[in-house]
Amino acid sequence: METTRLTVVSNRLAIVVDREQDGRWTIKPGSGGLVTALGPVLRDRGGQWIGWLGSNLQGELDEAALRDLLARGSRETGYALKPVELDDEEIQKYYFGFSNEILWPLFHDLPSRCNFDPAYWTVYERVNAKFARVVAQNTDEKEDYVWVHDYQLILVAAHLKAMGVRRSTGFFLHIPFPPLDGFIRLPWRSQILNALLQYDLIGFQTVRDRRNFMDCVRMLLPQTRVVGHGHIARCLTPEREVLVGVFPISIDFRQFADTAASQEVQDQAWIIHANLPERQLILGVDRLDYTKGIPLRLQAFANALERYPELRGTITLVQVVVPSRAEVPEYETLKREIERLVGEINGRFTEVGWTPIHYIYRSLSRVELLAYYRTCEIALITPLKDGMNLVAKEFCACSIENNGVLILSEFAGAAAQLHNGALLVNPFDIRGVADAIHRACAMDTVSRQARMEKMRRSIQKHNIFHWVNAFLRTGIHKDLNQFPRV
Ligand code: UDP
Repeated sequence: METTRLTVVSNRLAIVVDREQDGRWTIKPGSGGLVTALGPVLRDRGGQWIGWLGSNLQGELDEAALRDLLARGSRETGYALKPVELDDEEIQKYYFGFSNEILWPLFHDLPSRCNFDPAYWTVYERVNAKFARVVAQNTDEKEDYVWVHDYQLILVAAHLKAMGVRRSTGFFLHIPFPPLDGFIRLPWRSQILNALLQYDLIGFQTVRDRRNFMDCVRMLLPQTRVVGHGHIARCLTPEREVLVGVFPISIDFRQFADTAASQEVQDQAWIIHANLPERQLILGVDRLDYTKGIPLRLQAFANALERYPELRGTITLVQVVVPSRAEVPEYETLKREIERLVGEINGRFTEVGWTPIHYIYRSLSRVELLAYYRTCEIALITPLKDGMNLVAKEFCACSIENNGVLILSEFAGAAAQLHNGALLVNPFDIRGVADAIHRACAMDTVSRQARMEKMRRSIQKHNIFHWVNAFLRTGIHKDLNQFPRV
């Protein structure tokens, strides 16, 4: 069993491809937690990663150059990289369409943002079939365990089955699973549920997500029995048994904590501190996305300044917005709304020597990001809904003096693990979030430390390596003790 090879399948191949000034292409492993955690497993088991290369490479390389680049990438990463190529229509309708205009908003409880265009479904099916073919060509029934990631690729196992290809498969949903009354609106609800039940193991971020899924199965697929003996849940379809588990994703705690303590980060943190002196810094870090609740957060910050005038001149909100999906008009509208609010709040409250919001719209380097994590005493993380929210965990890991305060939305997956130490808020409650800001600013050192220590201990224990092991032990070895008690 130990020799089972791992095949990871995700929408994007986890690599960064760049073009040097002299026109040469470079390729290196991505820097996210998933790559960090899966890299060693893929290397040890001789695994491979299957995914789309991304649109920036599309049409830029001929076949021989692409082969050469991927071979170099495989040498860099230590595992094979297998690309899935998508044409323009597929990118538009599978990726921007079905994935990001239907599943993303629906699964984040925002059905009014969905565009249920039937043409999207056809292409979503077609692309999932394409991924399944690449999986079939590159794997073997006896040798491989196929681990599919996220909402773009729900149909892969179903297509493998339809092709008569038997594989041992697992699926992990990185985003939330919606409650029944949201999911039921999906015109393709039965196809999606049935497709999920073609995997041998399905993993969710939280107990709530799994419960939502089980409720949908109970209501919409009455011929499937749902059984949960203590900490193990199973769906028994007329044909098969599917394991359903909860595996909250995490971060490489040690790496964040160690880098936060490095001289480079400390120097950068000192520069930030020196430029924003004598005040408590509150940090928001989000990808530009309507699920992150940035406009409501800005209103809550303004509300705190209005109702607690003693905070004026003593706190600054550092709001980092990382550009994302910039080609989608809705995201451009959101950006304009954020910038209008920042301008309005700064215009209203700024005094000589003090600007309430320090707004950054760009991607930060790792050192800069960690320097902000270290310098800012309070993190204000208020998504309307979030699968997990890794920024919350990274902030805690970098709070190496244990003096940070985390204000966290109760609708972030991370709240299920960090509720003992965080100040939990309802992101729709502007006054409630403002009160939490006031409370965090006034919190004494002893309380801050007690809370932060609890959260750091929990993240250190349930780190990204723990997540990978828990999923694979359950999926490959059927070691059911990996399920948390519910
Ligand atoms: N991040 C980044 N560049 C930045 C700021 C943040 O790469 O300039 C990273 C951050 O370290 C975190 C990720 O982006 O790992 C955001 O993950 P999260 O789960 O919070 O939200 P998502 O963007 O996946 O919805």
